[in-house]
Parts: sequence; C-alpha cells; structure tokens
Amino acid sequence: MDVDEYRIRGKEMVDYIADYLSGIRDRRVFPDKKPGFMHDILPDSAPVEGESWKDIFKDVEGIIMPGITHWQSPHMHAYFPALNSYPSLLGDMLADAINCICFTWASSPAGTELETIVMNWLGKMIGLPDEFLHTRKDSTGGGVIQTTASEATLISLLAGRTQAIKQYQKHYPDLEDAEINARLVGYCSDQAHSSVEKAGIIGLVKIRYVPSDENLSMRGPKLQETIKKDREMGLIPFWVCNTLGTTGSCAFDNLEEVAQVCDTENLWLHIDAAYAGSAFICPEFRGWLKGIEYADSFAFNPSKWLMIHFDCTAMWVKNSNALHRTFNVDPLYLKHDNSGLAIDYMHWQIPLSKRFRALKLWFVIRNYGIMGLQKHIREGVRYAQKFEALVLADPRFEIPAARHLGLVVFRLKGENTSTEKLLKRLNSRGNLHCVPAALKDKYVIRFTVTSQYTTNEDIIKDWKEIKFVANEILQDAEQQMIAPTRVKVPLKETKVKNENFGTSLLLANSPMSPKIVNGSFAGIYDQGEVLAEYSKSFGQFRLAAPSSPYMRRRIKGILMSGKQFSLDSHLDMYQGIEPDSSKRPNSEPENLKCKPLLEDNDEDEYSSSEGESPNNGFLNVPIRVGKHRRSKSVDHQAPIAAIQEKCAKCGHDLIEY
Ligand SMILES: *Cc1c(COP(=O)(O)O)cnc(C)c1O
Repeated sequence: MDVDEYRIRGKEMVDYIADYLSGIRDRRVFPDKKPGFMHDILPDSAPVEGESWKDIFKDVEGIIMPGITHWQSPHMHAYFPALNSYPSLLGDMLADAINCICFTWASSPAGTELETIVMNWLGKMIGLPDEFLHTRKDSTGGGVIQTTASEATLISLLAGRTQAIKQYQKHYPDLEDAEINARLVGYCSDQAHSSVEKAGIIGLVKIRYVPSDENLSMRGPKLQETIKKDREMGLIPFWVCNTLGTTGSCAFDNLEEVAQVCDTENLWLHIDAAYAGSAFICPEFRGWLKGIEYADSFAFNPSKWLMIHFDCTAMWVKNSNALHRTFNVDPLYLKHDNSGLAIDYMHWQIPLSKRFRALKLWFVIRNYGIMGLQKHIREGVRYAQKFEALVLADPRFEIPAARHLGLVVFRLKGENTSTEKLLKRLNSRGNLHCVPAALKDKYVIRFTVTSQYTTNEDIIKDWKEIKFVANEILQDAEQQMIAPTRVKVPLKETKVKNENFGTSLLLANSPMSPKIVNGSFAGIYDQGEVLAEYSKSFGQFRLAAPSSPYMRRRIKGILMSGKQFSLDSHLDMYQGIEPDSSKRPNSEPENLKCKPLLEDNDEDEYSSSEGESPNNGFLNVPIRVGKHRRSKSVDHQAPIAAIQEKCAKCGHDLIEY
C-alpha cells in the first residue's frame, strides 16, 4: 500500500468506524457463533502473495464482525464497560503513526512529559492527595500509565516486597532475600479480583483472603485479626490490596479502617479501584476515598468507564523510589545526558517499552472537560438506578447486594438454577449480554450500564427482554418437576481444600479473569451445546441437574470432607460417558493416558441412590464426546482450550479437568 492508497483507505476506514459506532444498536450484541467457527472459513496458512486491500477489507464485515461481541453497544451489560470515544480513537491513530517508544525521557521527551502532566491532571480530578502527584523536580510521587490493573497490582506487590525485604535485612543482615520472601504474606478481601491472587503467585508470596462482611466489604478488625495470627506464626505481613468497587458486585472495602491497620502494622497499602476509580471525578462519590492519605499506591482503569479505550491504567505512587529500587536496571545503552534529571518511565514498569498512551488521555480530557466527563459518569449511574427501580418493582426478582455506581446485580428469587437458566437464555437470544457472579452462594446476573449512548428506551427494552425470558423460564419450571439425578465423580478425585483460596476462585467474582472467562462461558452456553461443539469422538453423556437432591448431598459431602468445590467445575454436571469402543486407540501414548473419562466401575461414595433408577434424571444426549483425560483435578480449564488439544497418538480431543 502506498501513501496515495493509504489516504483513500484511511478515509474509508474512518467512515466505516463512524458507521459501525453510530449503527451499533442494530447489531446483535452477542454473536451467534460456536467455538471453531473461524477455523472453518479461514485458510490454514498465510497467503504467499499479497492480496488487494479490497479483498481484505471485504472480510471485515464477512468474517470478523459476525464473531464480535459488541462492547460499545448500549445492550452490552457484561463485565465492566470498556468504552472508547472519538477523541480517544484519534489519539491512538496519531500515537500509532508516531509510534515512539517512551521508555526514557530521551527516547521521546514529549511522550514522557505529557504522561507526567496528564497523570497530574487526572490525579487532581479524582481528588488524590498532592503526595501522589509529580509537581516539582524533587517530588517522589507521581503517576504512570500501565497496561492493565492486574499489572499495577503486581507492580505494587513487588515494590512492597522489595521494601519489606530491605527493612527486614536491616535487622537481620544474614537473611537471604528468598528466606524473607518465603515468609511474606499479603492480604485482600475474599471479593478481590483474581489478579491479586495472580500477583501473589508471580511474587511467590502467600495471599490471605480476609472474609468480607454482610456488605461484601473488608473491614479493619477482621484484617487486624488475620494479621495477628500470621505474626504469631512467624510470618511477615507486608502488603494489603484494598478494593474500591469489586468486580462481582461493586462493593467497597472500608478504606478508612484498612488504612489504619496498614499504618499501625507498617504495610504497603495498594488500592485497586479499576472500575469505580472513574467515578471519583464526581465529588459526591469520593466518600469511599476516606483514608487515601495512608495509601502507597492507587490504580484505576480510565480504559473501563472514562471513554479512553484500552489499554490505559492510571497508577500513582507516593514514593517512586520504591519502584526504582524494584525495577532499576541501568544498562549503558539506555543512559542519556538527562538521566536522573527527568522521569525515565522504564523504571516504573515491568516492560522496557511503552506506547505513547498519554495522547489519547490528553485528547479526551481536553475535549470533554471535567464537566463533560462528570456528566457521562452521572448518566451511567442514573441509568443503573433506573434499571434497579424496574427490578425492584417486580416481586419475582431480588437485588441481593446494594447497587453501587453503574452495576446492578439481580436474580430471580429462589433456587440458583432459574437465574442461571434465565441468563443462558438471554445470552443465547443475543439481544443483550450479561455475565454471572457468585455472591456468597447466590448466583446473580450482573447488569452494568456501559455505553455513553445508552438511553431510557434502551434500558426499558432490556428490561422487557429480561421479563419476557423470565416468564418463559418460570412457566417451563412449573411444567416440569426436576427429576432426581446421580453423578459419578468419586469424591477422592476432588481437590483438597486450600484455605488460601478465596471466592476469587469461584465462579465469577472476577469476570475478567481467565477462570471467569470459564464462568462466563458457562453463563452463555448450555453444557450440551458446548460439548457437542468440541467433541470429536463418540459417546453418550448425561447431564445431572445441579439442584437435584443428589447434587445437594454430594456438595454437602464435599464441604464436610474439606474438599474444594468450585462453582465452575462443570465436570460435576456432565458425567457418565460411554465410550465408543470402535474409536478407542489400540495403544496409548506413554505420557498421556488415554482412557474413558469415567470408568464404569469408578466407585462413588455419594451415589447411594436408593429408589432412584440409575438413569433417572439424566438427559441422555447422543453426542460426540472426547473421552481422554489428563488431570484428575476438578478445576477444568476453559472448554475452548480443551478443544484445541488433541491426543498426540489417536487424534481424539483431550478434555482437561
Ligand atoms: C477489571 C478489574 C481488574 C482487572 O483489570 P485489568 O486491567 O484487565 O487487569 C482488576 N480489579 C478490579 C476490581 C476490576 O474490576
């Protein structure tokens, strides 16, 4: 493509984007596609000779768009918002063209300086204390744009770890870093995002999940008590992640109390306000920031709600020296004449390179102004209030956790199954899209107001759709009694319960995490549908209703025996595969045991089902099913991952669980 063609194609693309965004309401928000759809239409290898732009561009509507979940749609209510806006898109168009890599001041001075300035603006806009800003040459505080909130959490954990190790070594100079590291403990609420757990895994430190109170909020006394126990055991508490706006229900930890504990215990306090942070540009929402002056680091995602498209995580620290000490490597080729005089952001982050992301932030803040951004946030909250009122007016529904900001969690009263059915049917109809969460045993549907183009009519239309599907579900339920069922996973095969695993591991407290991608997957498809798609060998298999007396007995058994039961361990629900013997391999590869998912003679400590005929309650679905297993853990991985793996020898699909 030469410059003349670029001028033409670029304008066409801008028009296409404008049409796409302005007409997005008319598109089905969630695609009607099954895993693997693209493999069937795209070639296996890259073209040898270049293709014309016309041919390439034609495939955008033909192949890409039919498989898109339209995150900018007003009918998108899943996860949290991931908004864009025209000035933001223009910012990246220019940044991508310049494509400077802003790791040191000298590698692109405007990139570094604009980032420092807009991060000061943004910090002031959300009411951060001055110590978090970089206003003078000798300020140790300052802001930096990271890629994701997960990364910001990890960075703060690593900085806190470095600080703790250094402090400890002052008193015990003979101790190695690794010896101290092994005794470090970090803390977060049991509602915290799974990225906190991940940071602990990477940093090789234990993470304790402090039980949240009835408002799903982490409180000071509980945290204090947990820390005390750990100190008595000889462990070293060093870091706390305080969530403002949890992913499951937008609950807020009690920062004021948590901050006090961190202050007296001398712990690094990080604040994860990934979604809710945008709301702090409105003074009326800053009550949750009480105690902020004790924090060491703070992060939120303008890429969620503030119309600055992904990626853009704003992170501030009070003491950037702690980051320097953690990340400073100083090879000669990165030294420049102004080294030490200006910020070199490479010392504030994990990668060396960074994009010129400050530009889109600058464009959006200037074009909307503080007032324009405040209006956008307030409208989102208002529409969530409207939706909340509609739900509350219908006695069949309940809202089991308080609505905060733009997130309403709701469910049908009674058993979890009807809400789960409701969600699946809503998603399969594709008129709106939501994902589930598990809040203290309750299965809820999360409804987040996302788009800045949402109108009253959109909300009313969504509510009508929900009511229509709920009517269907409730009528179905009246018509069919749930039959007793029986499953066959031996209890001994379930994982031994790990006390360190909080509910972040369960179904959907963190819809954005890989675990939860499983969870949301489960919230989208019926199990049979999923398995039919990715199974290539033959068998029969049976679904057991999770609400059945048998399942209840079994779950009780798991709880009593101290085993881990994860709500998204779906395997509990689809069992009883009868392998097709003609398809069985003659010999098995040595490293992978190919055998039927469940042997008929597998013992089952909880399957004594007097009065229930063995097949009662099973749907006998004659579909093709993978029949090999690799792992005995109940925590199966994403079905999508499973379909991509085949048994090396016989070509059967591997189902991992
Ligand atoms: C969305 C979210 C995250 C993860 O954000 P990424 O930028 O995708 O890493 C972390 N914490 C909370 C509370 C979130 O809502």
